[in-house]
Amino acid sequence: KRQEVGPQEHGIDPKLVDDRALNVVHTLKEAGYEAYIVGGAVRDLLVGLRPKDFDVATSATPEQVKSLFRRAFIIGRRFRIVHVVYGRGREHEVIEVSTFRAYMDNAAAEQVAGNEKTSKSELAGMKHAVDSTGRVLRDNVWGPQEEDATRRDFTINAMYYDPETQTVVDYHNGIKDAKKRTLRMIGDPLTRYREDPVRIIRAVRFAAKLNPLGFKLDPKTAAPLVQCQALLADVPQSRLFDEMLKLLQTGHSLATIAQLKALGMSRGIYPLLDLVVERADEPFVQSALQDTDRRVNEGKPVAPSFLLACVLWSDVRDGWARRLQDRQHPFPALQDAIDDVFNARIGDVSGRGKLAADMREIWMMQPRFEKRTGSAPFSLVEQPRFRASFDFMRLRADIGEVDVVLADWWQEFSQASDAVREDLVAQLR
Ligand code: ATP
Ligand code: MG
Repeated sequence: KRQEVGPQEHGIDPKLVDDRALNVVHTLKEAGYEAYIVGGAVRDLLVGLRPKDFDVATSATPEQVKSLFRRAFIIGRRFRIVHVVYGRGREHEVIEVSTFRAYMDNAAAEQVAGNEKTSKSELAGMKHAVDSTGRVLRDNVWGPQEEDATRRDFTINAMYYDPETQTVVDYHNGIKDAKKRTLRMIGDPLTRYREDPVRIIRAVRFAAKLNPLGFKLDPKTAAPLVQCQALLADVPQSRLFDEMLKLLQTGHSLATIAQLKALGMSRGIYPLLDLVVERADEPFVQSALQDTDRRVNEGKPVAPSFLLACVLWSDVRDGWARRLQDRQHPFPALQDAIDDVFNARIGDVSGRGKLAADMREIWMMQPRFEKRTGSAPFSLVEQPRFRASFDFMRLRADIGEVDVVLADWWQEFSQASDAVREDLVAQLR
């Protein structure tokens, strides 16, 4: 089953391979371990895209990996992987290194989970943290490369590339599927979706991401998607939330939404995503999605807080207007409206404090753009979230919710020197 494919056949351009990833593979191989670039990076290389990040898979354990690099950190109490860090500040880059893991179906994972409760160390390399489903455990038992390939999701995501010999190791005909432009689940799709329902969302994401290159979901991979959607109810909210964000940040968010509709999955993956799909045709939300796509395609970072602030804005705005009619003061009225929206729409997504705080700040700054006298504009422009809040206000101006003249004034003001800023304020009198 194991196929080794040379550069003539796979056609990967070695220049697209990141130097740091190359260094990690080299160091591990020097030390006598197996090491390969793996997963999404190989897929992207194979279809001629520059990977946005590089993952490495190795036969070395996390401790062994850590000992080989100066700046390496074992992270994740549950899924233990190693981050090898290069550079600092803006230039800083992380190569994620994971140890080959065994493939276990649900029955095997549950059996191991049972054993783990009675006898601690039956399996070498086993790591603690057992949950009732056996899911966590499944991902922490080391195994041979072949099993590491089989536990992955799609055939095109399960290849290993050795950048030194330029060979691709392929157990599941990933190269053939890449050439045929087919997105195919490894094994029996229904079983694999049951094992981990998040794969349902991943299928949609990769189908949308690779659609411009002509990729289509294999019919057998696509067929169980709709019936399996209900399984997502058992997935922790925080994981769904993360997957939803990735779904919206492929650089083709409008195509992704079209894909969801085409598959009959425009509702039911995650409440907030339902809302995005529902509102995607509204000019304000559509602009925000296009803006996100543009940034992703320019290689710029995207803040999910901005997009979500846009999607939920109509709720905030309406709640705010209602409270103003009830003669509440503007700021507390806005604050209360925001609280309501968080309670109704976001719920309890733990570990999302920063994101929620950023959304709140974008919204709370909106009325402050109206105040252009005295020192107010000078302090507003210094706020850490000024840029995002201004971009948000610009979108509001585009749909006629705010005077374009006001947006232009702030554009001028934010880019001007202090002296010019004084003039801009003085001209308003
Ligand atoms: P992207 O380019 O969006 O990062 P990716 O394929 O690298 O895509 P990751 O989420 O970074 O996706 O995962 C890395 C690899 O881990 C995948 O290519 C796949 O082989 C494997 N993988 C990730 N999530 C799953 C999953 N839920 N089930 C099986 N394999 C998975
Ligand atoms: Mg990746």
